[in-house]
Amino acid sequence: MHFHIITLFPEMFDSYLGESILARAIKEKKIQVSFYNPRTFVSGKYKRVWPDGNVSRIVDDRPYGGGPGMILRAEPVLKAIESVLKKLEAKSKKQKARPQIKIINFSPSGKKFSTSYAKQVAGKYSNLILICGRYEGIDARVKKVLRAMGYATDDISIGEYVLTGGELPAMVLIDSISRQVKGVLGKYESLEEERVSSSEVYTRPEVLLHEGKKFRVPKVLLSGHRKNIEEWKKKKQ
Ligand code: SAH
Repeated sequence: MHFHIITLFPEMFDSYLGESILARAIKEKKIQVSFYNPRTFVSGKYKRVWPDGNVSRIVDDRPYGGGPGMILRAEPVLKAIESVLKKLEAKSKKQKARPQIKIINFSPSGKKFSTSYAKQVAGKYSNLILICGRYEGIDARVKKVLRAMGYATDDISIGEYVLTGGELPAMVLIDSISRQVKGVLGKYESLEEERVSSSEVYTRPEVLLHEGKKFRVPKVLLSGHRKNIEEWKKKKQ
């Protein structure tokens, strides 16, 4: 699975992808994550070169119809997405196979993300393009242009709250979808779906002492009685 992230803030991903299971999955090439920053695609009047040599690349502009906040402009976002599509097309020509591409747009009013959606995309696609919005959102014509190009996008929300950007949602999807990719989870971290899991878990010591009080592991878990343990876990789900 190759994740292509369209974001103004690629560095935000470094620490999360640099540790633990996802870092291992990237190192072992089970998953791949690439970044495309719309800011690097800014041209024309939105690119200003100052006398001191500094360059400003402006990615946002004021909303038509008024209102607070700024809107991420369509052009640099589309150029970033097109650069991914071009790369994938070139690759598929070389390999003589069409890449399976899904484009996902993040929105707090989109379809609620779930494990079943994660499974579905992990099973069907080899390339996911995730578009991270910022400010008041992205010019709606990005989706319209993509649709005209033959790419229907999915609008996905990770929950009923509004975040400042799509970067956290993208990390949530990378994490959850990667779990569905073969070989990402080691044998000690197997998929929940394949075993009886519970949200109440314990490890050593058997008795935890805190300020003179004893906190014990439920007896059933120490019993070695498989059937009773599974039943207890089911109840605790
Ligand atoms: N006014 C916009 C909200 C913009 S929030 C609206 O009502 O749609 C800025 C960006 O953060 C969004 O474009 C989206 O990419 C991301 N975002 C915020 N909350 C999110 C959520 N719950 N799920 C997915 N993406 C979210």
